[in-house]
Amino acid sequence: MTLTTLAAPVRAFAPDRFGCSCCAPVLQDLTLLSVTQVAAAARPEAWKKLGPAPAAQSGTFILTGASVLTVDADFSTVEALAVRDGRVLAVGSLDDVRAEAGEDAEVIEAAGRAILPGFIEPHMHFFTIAVMSRWANVGAIACPDADAVIDRISDLAAEAGPDRWIVARQFDPSLQAGADQITRHTLDQVAPRHPVFIFKASLHIGYCNSRALEIAGLTAETPDPPGSAFVRDEDGRPNGVLKGQPAIMAVLAHTLSSLAIDDVPEACLQVCAKANQVGVTTVCDQGAGLSLGRAEVGAFHSFAASGHMTARLRYSLSGAMADRWDEMDVKPGQGDEMARATGWKIVSDGSNQGRSGLQREPYLGGDDRGLAYVAADDLKVQVTRRALEGWQVVVHANGDQAIDNTLDAMEAARAAGASPDLRFRIEHCSILHDDQIRRIAALGASPSFLIGHVHYWGKAFRDEIFGPLKADLLGRAASCGKAGIRWTLHSDEPVTDMDPLRLMDNAVNRSLWKEPGGVLNPAERVSVEQAIVSLTRDAAWQCHSEHEIGSLEPGKFADFVVLDRSPLEIDPADLRRLKVLETWVAGRCVYRREAT
Ligand SMILES: [Zn+2]
Ligand SMILES: [Zn+2]
Repeated sequence: MTLTTLAAPVRAFAPDRFGCSCCAPVLQDLTLLSVTQVAAAARPEAWKKLGPAPAAQSGTFILTGASVLTVDADFSTVEALAVRDGRVLAVGSLDDVRAEAGEDAEVIEAAGRAILPGFIEPHMHFFTIAVMSRWANVGAIACPDADAVIDRISDLAAEAGPDRWIVARQFDPSLQAGADQITRHTLDQVAPRHPVFIFKASLHIGYCNSRALEIAGLTAETPDPPGSAFVRDEDGRPNGVLKGQPAIMAVLAHTLSSLAIDDVPEACLQVCAKANQVGVTTVCDQGAGLSLGRAEVGAFHSFAASGHMTARLRYSLSGAMADRWDEMDVKPGQGDEMARATGWKIVSDGSNQGRSGLQREPYLGGDDRGLAYVAADDLKVQVTRRALEGWQVVVHANGDQAIDNTLDAMEAARAAGASPDLRFRIEHCSILHDDQIRRIAALGASPSFLIGHVHYWGKAFRDEIFGPLKADLLGRAASCGKAGIRWTLHSDEPVTDMDPLRLMDNAVNRSLWKEPGGVLNPAERVSVEQAIVSLTRDAAWQCHSEHEIGSLEPGKFADFVVLDRSPLEIDPADLRRLKVLETWVAGRCVYRREAT
């Protein structure tokens, strides 16, 4: 059974705020629209249109004058970094590095700046970002309240050609003040002629105007599709609020051309450029091939072979389409230093914000305990089978019961002979009790935290979803560190934006977006140094790439980021003010911030 058939009807009426794209079925339908283009991009010829690849870096240069945070085992800070032919040649004092690099090496001054290993984003969704980048972002960062969302739609309608669809995403009433839904009545005032569709951030609810309803042929007489609803006015006419995947697709089916990726190579370049802008040099796609299978993985490797990839890619295969991977005989570790298969992804439950994360106890104000997407016994079978095939098993588990089930499954796999060096991963790992931390440590497993849960939704978790005691168990990075567990931080983009400096701020300060001065469980705050290790060295270890990336040590790739100041020398409250000035991959500058 596929994830779509399991998840769709159950999620339709969930009072969700924000889901994980691992478990939003509508996305799979939308990505399917791009299947032909992505299949074409699996062929190497498709990338020729990008022209000749930039030459690999050759020769030797030295960067000096900056604080070079090597993030080696001792967390050494040095004054100079020498690069030769795309790899780190030496780090240390300027004299020592010069002696190694030779008198002819070019010396680049970077006074006052900080150089860190390139950041690694351990959990994002590559093609989902590529698809969604075509839609206008009306989320909380761009639009602080619902009125600003409507203003933005008004602007888009003013700019759009006749009959062009306006598709937007990321409206989130739990983060944006004002109306908690958007009806056609509001949208019609600013966009009477253009069809408009807005996704709620969770992707489980949509909002459209009268023109879109008209094009879709939806009237008072149209029955609700099974498992979903057209919310209606008193006279029975749809009011533009669409609940659930079938209702959403009833409208979106009329604008397929504005939803699909039309130029896959260009879209892939843009995803890498987006990563580079925030200092990311390696991204890890957690759920490759969710809809497109062979084509998606083929496109990754053709992209890598084209020489145009500016961020390394590691990926976990989506276990939702296990049969197709088995047909293809994909092997763990296949690929090269630019693109490589590293994991096997299983989604075990839903999202806590959507009250579909699987809990030991009911959610606040109800008796619902969420949903197992994979039954506990089946999870044991899947985890054990894939681990014995040599896969690093990567399990999405948000609720505490889902984490119990995941640990049971991982222990069963170990008992059956799976190696601890597979480094089992628990994704999001949101609610974590002390007994579970002990089990993770004993297994040698490793959590990756969606730390934006704490910052963006921490207040809602505390006040509406879990209550204060359980909300304190969110994102327990400090406790995991004390237990000797290696952990990382991720954005899960498109759930939150890739931005390692923001992740660092969230983990170090645990401040609450919607409560000035508020902090969620200060005991779980980590040091700046710990946060940096999690974004570099430990993230490299987590994706089985520590032999080539994750620290600035001789022989590793010269993947690094230049910040305007050292994060170690500022007040932690100012972390969010740090700026990425440059991003380098294999000794080549792939992003430079424009002077302002
Ligand atoms: Zn997930
Ligand atoms: Zn995800």
